[in-house]
Amino acid sequence: MGLSLTVLGCSGSYAAAGEACSGYLIRSGQTSVWVDCGPGTLSTLQQNIELTEVDAIIVSHHHPDHCAELPVVYNAYKYFTSVSKIKVVSTSDVRRVTDAFQSEGDSSDIFDWEIVGDGSVCEVGDISVCFSRTDHPVETLAMRFNCGNQSIVYTSDTGKNWSVSKLGFGADIVLGEGTLLNHNADSNIPHISCGHLAAEANEARAQQLIVTHVPPGSDPSKHLEEAAAVFDGQVELATTGRTFSTTNN
Ligand SMILES: [Zn+2]
Repeated sequence: MGLSLTVLGCSGSYAAAGEACSGYLIRSGQTSVWVDCGPGTLSTLQQNIELTEVDAIIVSHHHPDHCAELPVVYNAYKYFTSVSKIKVVSTSDVRRVTDAFQSEGDSSDIFDWEIVGDGSVCEVGDISVCFSRTDHPVETLAMRFNCGNQSIVYTSDTGKNWSVSKLGFGADIVLGEGTLLNHNADSNIPHISCGHLAAEANEARAQQLIVTHVPPGSDPSKHLEEAAAVFDGQVELATTGRTFSTTNN
């Protein structure tokens, strides 16, 4: 049994018309993990599974395009499901901004928080998750999901001073941010180009590369083209609703 990755939303910075910001559903045969809660992803999650079927929510950092749905998710669990607690794994800042939405300043009656950082490992069912801090203005965690001998790496957001290989080599899938193109990459922008991402994925000997976090207004086909020109294996573009599987590699 492999791991699957379903895209719940993939717009970078803000959602394009009819789209959602970052969110992914990672599943083994028995475990479901919702990764990043960008605005709009609660809706698309429910097109795939019930809220009651989610085993844990993992949020990479507290930029709003990755976490701003969480206070709404709190409402959904609290008032509309029989779930007493849902595990939320994140940086301390994600908890801080989420708690701020509650009248008592505390969301822990519903969210069972597990605060993680660089080098942390957490277990959700039969999926083990390792974290690595990226090069981004706020504490941001890339992560590697391992289940049996299958693995998926998610870069979250990062600048050039972090390497995919910090999470090991040979992942079946690297889901990587390709916010920029080589021609508009700028050291003042805390994101990487698709060409840089593809070179990083080669270095980490990834089997398959999925490009995500393309901002509205940028032509996705150009992002795919730039990554495909560099990456040694198969390159795909994240699109909402699409599912990728490690067993296809
Ligand atoms: Zn960010």
